[in-house]
Amino acid sequence: MGQDCIFCKIAAGEIPSDVLYSDDVCFVIRDIAPAAPVHLLVIPNQHFTYLDGLTAERHGMVGAMFQAAAQMAAREGIVKSGYRLSVNQGDDSGQMVDHLHLHVLGGERLGAMA
Ligand code: AMP
Repeated sequence: MGQDCIFCKIAAGEIPSDVLYSDDVCFVIRDIAPAAPVHLLVIPNQHFTYLDGLTAERHGMVGAMFQAAAQMAAREGIVKSGYRLSVNQGDDSGQMVDHLHLHVLGGERLGAMA
């Protein structure tokens, strides 16, 4: 567990959160400050920050995260209209939580990527 990591605390049940989906690898919650009508976060159970530490053992974790994102997009009814997955990495991206996560954004026409 990452010290003082908010997503680790949610994973451990120390901070209450509505978990929409969970499996052995990851869980999904709604973003507390949504940037679109649908804004979910797919978060691995294991604390992990940067993709440059993505070893072969973690390839399965990333695959499971994408699969969870696709399942949740279907559940939220945004597959046909479309959605975006994004991952912030480091200061210039504005990453606020140092625990890898996928943003799933949809439910309206999204603005251009920065
Ligand atoms: P990032 O900037 O990629 O690190 O995104 C972190 C995201 O986590 C932000 O969009 C926050 O709004 C969101 N967030 C922070 N704390 C919580 C929380 N307790 N529950 C849900 N989302 C959160």
